[in-house]
Amino acid sequence: MQTKPLFMVMSAPSGCGKSTLIDMLLQEYPDLQYSISCTTRAPRGEEEDGIDYHFLSVDRFRELIAEKAFLEWAEVHGNYYGTLRAPIEEILAEGNSVILDIDVAGAAKVRAVIAELPQNHPLRAAYFDVFINPPSMEELRERLEGRGTDSPEAIERRLANAEGEMARAGEYMCQVTNDDLAIAYKKMCDLVDVRTGRM
Ligand code: 5GP
Repeated sequence: MQTKPLFMVMSAPSGCGKSTLIDMLLQEYPDLQYSISCTTRAPRGEEEDGIDYHFLSVDRFRELIAEKAFLEWAEVHGNYYGTLRAPIEEILAEGNSVILDIDVAGAAKVRAVIAELPQNHPLRAAYFDVFINPPSMEELRERLEGRGTDSPEAIERRLANAEGEMARAGEYMCQVTNDDLAIAYKKMCDLVDVRTGRM
């Protein structure tokens, strides 16, 4: 079936189940590919170059900034992170779709780039963004505490960040609330199906 390529940006405060939803979508749609970000931070644990991130030196990253190779980039906790533009354009040119997992600031930068492009440019024509909301701040706190991976201070910081991010949810074309994973996933699939012309 011929489908319309999708350039999909997904953002959510941590603890909203975004990674789970993205993994499920990647399993469901074989033509959907995950955009691998570049970073200058060192790999952690089992992370692999070219799978989790493209791990680059600071010099190489700065060269790519100078070459305007990034659709967006940012410095987070002293490391550079960025999304290369060319691989996204290649995926779309092949008729496939791509999903980006970036925060609200990154998404805003991508939108600003898109807005400068002609209406029929493949990046603009395929662009679509979704914000995943937690059911409530209480539930988000419970989830973060339940994960047991963050200190109480880190949890407070994540909750404060979440409020800041949720205040910008209105910038997104769609919002999905993840109070029930199966329902949230069904909504995501419906959005993808409508946007790609499957439905
Ligand atoms: P981590 O080092 O834990 O993998 O990621 C740290 C932060 O960098 C996260 O907030 C993550 O969202 C952000 N990040 C990862 N990739 C990108 C990217 O391509 N662009 C931007 N702007 N931020 C990113």
